[in-house]
Amino acid sequence: MNKKACTNCHFITKENVCPKCRSTSLSEDFSGIVIMFDPENSAIAKAMSIKEKGRYALKVR
Ligand SMILES: [Zn+2]
Repeated sequence: MNKKACTNCHFITKENVCPKCRSTSLSEDFSGIVIMFDPENSAIAKAMSIKEKGRYALKVR
């Protein structure tokens, strides 16, 4: 099964519902994967409003 990215919070998942924000708006059309280990000290995490560890898509269409 293909991975999808949440169009709301950009979290990458294989589920049909985002486990982070419960959004059902998921897209297979995403690019760039960011693995967030330390979101509290990451400029990218701040820019993307990420507060939890995990894998996120940079761009989701
Ligand atoms: Zn989400």
